[in-house]
Amino acid sequence: MEKRCPLCEGKANILYSSMYDKDYFVSGEFSLNKCSNCEFKFIEPLLNEKQIAKYYPPSEYYSYHKKSKLSILYHKISAEYYSNKNLLFNILFWPFSSLLYHYRIDPGKKLLEIGCGDGMQLEFYKKYGLRTAGLEPYGLNLTQREKNLGIERKNILKSNFPTESFDYIIMKEVLEHIPNQDAVLKKSYSLLKNGGKLIIVVPNGDGLWNKIFGKNWYGYDVPRHLYTYNPKNIKIRLEKYGFKINKIRTYDIPYMLDGSIKFYLVDKQKDKRKKHNLIFSSLSKILFTPISLLVTYMKGGSILEVEAEK
Ligand SMILES: [Zn+2]
Repeated sequence: MEKRCPLCEGKANILYSSMYDKDYFVSGEFSLNKCSNCEFKFIEPLLNEKQIAKYYPPSEYYSYHKKSKLSILYHKISAEYYSNKNLLFNILFWPFSSLLYHYRIDPGKKLLEIGCGDGMQLEFYKKYGLRTAGLEPYGLNLTQREKNLGIERKNILKSNFPTESFDYIIMKEVLEHIPNQDAVLKKSYSLLKNGGKLIIVVPNGDGLWNKIFGKNWYGYDVPRHLYTYNPKNIKIRLEKYGFKINKIRTYDIPYMLDGSIKFYLVDKQKDKRKKHNLIFSSLSKILFTPISLLVTYMKGGSILEVEAEK
């Protein structure tokens, strides 16, 4: 049977077969399909909520973990930079600004983060004056700190926020994990106020590391990433629900190179289902920062950020 693209109904073909979990080695084999029309990529078989759960071993998956010190520092710098409070600080970090996560510092505004993990980003948003809410279906009982940030253990589709509640909805590295893209994006649209903004960050299937590492590109992270977008097809997706695209930006982050090297080495081993013992550390991420800057400058970044408005 001919494969059809779940986004545009165009004809889709297998790009890579025999893909597998190169991070936690949960069993299963997948192929990665690419639409010949809009270039949207999707895994096959596609997993639903229940089937995908086993690929998130709670003891391993990073979003359950406390964030690394380096990651917290990165977000601290990003939030401070976008608060524009300190001119000297901004001059100092200006050369690296294209690598920073774009915090929408807009005091008094209401922001919802879908898939907020332990709430690290919400904490920065709250610190700079936004009113926060968060949804994270996976994890242990909520701590007091999480409750104070407005986090609930709920799926967006089961949330009971009134429509037009939020000025901002953010999804950072979340959309690619969600089986029912339609339902979640429609719901996000309804929860935004008129003029409200949806900020999505996903891996960029058009980036340089994708071209170099192919099936071992870290952004594929099969099968946790069900879908891979690029600047062209994310636009098609969001316009479907009535969003207006304000801005599309690509940038690079050192962990994309770091992770791609790790996947490549795993794949080159005799025993493919074994962690590679080369240690990937904070140091490699710091060393790769100048490379990420160069790749961002060349417009080959592996991260895609979209700002869409209702
Ligand atoms: Zn398509």
